[in-house]
Amino acid sequence: MRRMEADVVVIGGGATGASVFRDCSLRGMQAILVERGDIASGTTGRNHGLLHSGARYAVTDSHSARECISENKILKQIAGHCVEATDGLFISLPEDGLDFQQQFMQGCADAGIHAQELSPKQALQLEPAVNPALIGAVRIPDGTIDPFRLTSATILDAREHGGALLNYNRAEGLLIEQGRVQGVRCRDLRNGEQFEIRCQAVVNASGAWCHEIMEYADLSVDMYHSRGALLIMGHRMNGMVINRCRKPGDADILVPGDTVSVIGTTSTHVGRDELETLEVTADEVKTLLQEGSKLAPSMLDARILRAYCGVRPLVAESSSGGDRSISRGLVAIDHGEQDGLPGLVTITGGKLMTCRLMAEVATDKVARLLNISVPCETASRPLPGAHLPEPIGRKMRQGQSRYRLPDSSLPNSIAGSAVYRHGDRARSFMQEDDHHNNAVVCECEVVTRGEILYAIETLNARSMSDLRRRTRVGMGPCQGEMCACRVAGLLASQQENGDEVLGSLQDFVNERWKGIRPVLWGDALRESEFSYWVQESLLGLSSLQPEGKAEDNRDLYHEL
Ligand SMILES: Cc1cc2nc3c(=O)[nH]c(=O)nc-3n(C[C@H](O)[C@H](O)[C@H](O)COP(=O)(O)OP(=O)(O)OC[C@H]3O[C@@H](n4cnc5c(N)ncnc54)[C@H](O)[C@@H]3O)c2cc1C
Repeated sequence: MRRMEADVVVIGGGATGASVFRDCSLRGMQAILVERGDIASGTTGRNHGLLHSGARYAVTDSHSARECISENKILKQIAGHCVEATDGLFISLPEDGLDFQQQFMQGCADAGIHAQELSPKQALQLEPAVNPALIGAVRIPDGTIDPFRLTSATILDAREHGGALLNYNRAEGLLIEQGRVQGVRCRDLRNGEQFEIRCQAVVNASGAWCHEIMEYADLSVDMYHSRGALLIMGHRMNGMVINRCRKPGDADILVPGDTVSVIGTTSTHVGRDELETLEVTADEVKTLLQEGSKLAPSMLDARILRAYCGVRPLVAESSSGGDRSISRGLVAIDHGEQDGLPGLVTITGGKLMTCRLMAEVATDKVARLLNISVPCETASRPLPGAHLPEPIGRKMRQGQSRYRLPDSSLPNSIAGSAVYRHGDRARSFMQEDDHHNNAVVCECEVVTRGEILYAIETLNARSMSDLRRRTRVGMGPCQGEMCACRVAGLLASQQENGDEVLGSLQDFVNERWKGIRPVLWGDALRESEFSYWVQESLLGLSSLQPEGKAEDNRDLYHEL
């Protein structure tokens, strides 16, 4: 069996694992990250993208509120190209009354969150999409965060500091010898090969699946899997985040991000056997629309692009009050101290936006195990790409075109999108007179040929869906109808086995379809008919059989 060596192995390539990977690498440890799928393909790629100010938890969970506001300020400094400081409103509707607003103001003050009371007229002036029936509003420093970009930039930094990423590799066991964890047994999921990584410490950052890694060592944790569904609207409806000023409930946050707005979420307890079946139900869509349109009534007339859901990795101290009552605070376990099994650290709970803090806490524990005294730098050290040029104009309704590449004559639509997604690293693939690579392959999100190649060469993208996560290709209104085949051609030109790309294209189209199916009416239905015509009638996509996939070729569009 092939054997590798490292100081630390991190299991899980979500935002948490990526941040641990970076922190360990920056402190001089030789780190390897093992992820069974692509980076950010777990809960990290299935959330709301809200850069919490902490205000949501100000009344019910003061500890989480403090963690959020502190990390909110740090991420704005170190991850400029991953966040938008949009600010947010907490609005009170007639059915809510204003009593909660008073507790809310006090909670924000206690947690150190700047909160400014506004009149309904002021709120409507700031955010015209807000429900005009509101009776009160509070402005707070919420923002938006792109989970894919954050994870990708974090991994890039770790790799630039000596870390090694093994995506599409699953951890299948822990090597326990002489009473301590000494490594991980893994399998490469592309060729089935098993191998071992010997190390001094293992960090279990596998989110909603972290009980499975603990079971490899006969340990357990009381996870509370809380499933949440969300809808993506077809355009960016609001400039600021809009929240409901009441105790957290269903569909009470509308988050703008990139070219769209996202309404969510629901919250339902699910069993561990349901973690892989993430389909949004008709009831969830109904609830999201009914409740969401109370925040912004124009939602009822807007096109819905797709639906998706994710599972929160919460740890249940007590779930008697339902999952909204479980703390969103982080949980870090040194299994040497807790269970007498040194060499294993678990980090879970928390939130996307507290991933850096979670990593700092976990890496401190690892550093103690390895006798390393290098301090954590991640709170002050910017991520690759974070140095952004000054945005054009102050209003941020359309995020992408607000940047320009310094000293460049390229149109903002092209250069601005690249800078928006990759910050100052956009220079690596945008050259002034390189017309070939500056050609646009995805019109909705303005992704160029050069950006696709950069994602393949530098950001470890191996499949069509990986490219979507790195560049937003196929995430816009046409959902890949016009660009998917072009991108597949580009990917095939960079890979040895063209057949693999065909399978990856079919997976990509099926995945898009999965998200569209729950919202299939009106414009979404019309667009799907057109996609069917292009991809099936014109190109005959489902009849193209990639080698070895004949049985697995799910019926593309046949339900339509
Ligand atoms: C509906 C919803 C909305 C949310 N909204 C927000 C929000 O607006 N803001 C916010 O800050 N947070 C939000 N969250 C919370 C946030 O998304 C999560 O806390 C965070 O993404 C968890 O990241 P993670 O890295 O710990 O887990 P994950 O992203 O799930 O990463 C774990 C990884 O481990 C991998 N893995 C599992 N088993 C193995 C194995 N055996 N070998 C190798 N790899 C393995 C998985 O493939 C996965 O990629 C939301 C969550 C949900 C569900």
